[in-house]
Amino acid sequence: MGFRDECGVVGIYGAVNAAALSYFALTSLQHRGQESAGIAATDGETIKLHKGIGLVSDVFKQGHFEKLSGSIAVGHVRYATAGGRTIENAQPFVNSFKMGSIALAHNGQLVNYEELHAMLEDGGSTFSSSSDTEVILKLIVRKFIENGGKLGSCGKENFSKTENQKRFVDAVVQAVRMIKGSFALCIMTESMLIGVRDPNGIRPLCLGKVESGYILTSESCAIDSVNGQFLRDVEPGEIVVINRGGLRSIQPEEKPEKQTCIFEYVYFARPDSVIDGISVQEARYRMGEVLAEESSVNADVVIGVPDSGLGAAQGYARASGIPYGMGIIKNKYIGRTFIAPTQKERENMVFVKLNAIRSDLEGKRVIVIDDSIVRGTTSRRLVQILRRAGAKEVHFRVSSPPVKFPCYLGIDTPSKNELISSTHELEEIRKEIGADSLAFISLEGMIKALRSCCPAETGRCLEGWCKGCFSGEYPV
Ligand code: AMP
Repeated sequence: MGFRDECGVVGIYGAVNAAALSYFALTSLQHRGQESAGIAATDGETIKLHKGIGLVSDVFKQGHFEKLSGSIAVGHVRYATAGGRTIENAQPFVNSFKMGSIALAHNGQLVNYEELHAMLEDGGSTFSSSSDTEVILKLIVRKFIENGGKLGSCGKENFSKTENQKRFVDAVVQAVRMIKGSFALCIMTESMLIGVRDPNGIRPLCLGKVESGYILTSESCAIDSVNGQFLRDVEPGEIVVINRGGLRSIQPEEKPEKQTCIFEYVYFARPDSVIDGISVQEARYRMGEVLAEESSVNADVVIGVPDSGLGAAQGYARASGIPYGMGIIKNKYIGRTFIAPTQKERENMVFVKLNAIRSDLEGKRVIVIDDSIVRGTTSRRLVQILRRAGAKEVHFRVSSPPVKFPCYLGIDTPSKNELISSTHELEEIRKEIGADSLAFISLEGMIKALRSCCPAETGRCLEGWCKGCFSGEYPV
């Protein structure tokens, strides 16, 4: 299966050069995906697309923006997985047909992909990739044509734009009701932009103002990067339609149960983003504080594993009163190397990526905080690095509970037998990574930390989070 995607999406409506703004937004979503990048834009006549393998800055050169002129655009960055590193799976996907063109960018993962794929193939659809995103696109096209057919005018060039737009929005609503899983979508035609968040709100999507129009994007840090103004999160199950008439919200028929991915706060999102009312950095501080309450140990310095462990380390230091130190430096020029293909490569990448600062550590009892242990590769190498730099004791603390279950909803955790916490007990893991002590935050502790960050006036984020990777219980 080549469609285990962690991604970032953006959609812009009503900007002078929507593709250029998308480029900046994607650059600030680069942490969500480094395998491929792409932007589709329209001048109102046709949709033009440019996408490629690599970082946003590798894929786009000045000349591309001349081709991508226009006021509406959608963009995408995609994460590397071992099998799916091909241009065919790069997004956005564009489909052109008689009545116009559609471009779609998707963050998430469908669980009924195979069923829908088979149904669409039986009905004559053809596919050019192994991506579940293409299934969504073809489903919308199918519904759109069906809607036109029912009205008796499909294929006739004379139906008005408004009529056409209405049919298209109906098609999106119908298609979205058929797909199951996690999805944050940015969809565009030559005349509108649509944002969709799955009924559980598993993947984040937010809305802002930019220039004289709007921006939809995975994380609020991307709104800041285009000097936009954050308006609100798209609600679970909500469909936001933006066109010449302004912005319209279509609410789901049934009240959905919010189950935002908790791992966004743990690891995935950027610390300067706010998701569903909770600041990611504040959540990490609080997780560190709770971790300190739950598993204190005498030590001389608290350090964090850059970048996603730093917030929790500061929180731990604050709560424990033990001084915070830098201790570890991360090479800024390599990305998230989690998915290096072989175990040996993954292990050695840690040496390239992280190094110890001897003067912060020598002769000291060190508490080191990471946001998660998945395979155990990073922690094992880190303990080695810290001891080599003269740490007297190494106490490993983790600001998320043990990852015991794979994720089917868009975070690329490996299979169960590769997850060290699934196959080993705590003491065995401690020995395996070579630490003097090891503790994880409890699941209750993590929830308590997140709840304490909810804005008191709304309380809306008290509703719930998907904790599948820790508990094995998934919302879909
Ligand atoms: P591991 O080395 O396999 O135990 O992975 C844990 C390290 O990878 C931690 O430092 C995390 O910050 C990071 N990490 C956790 N989840 C992911 C993920 N889904 N993709 C990439 N890196 C991750």
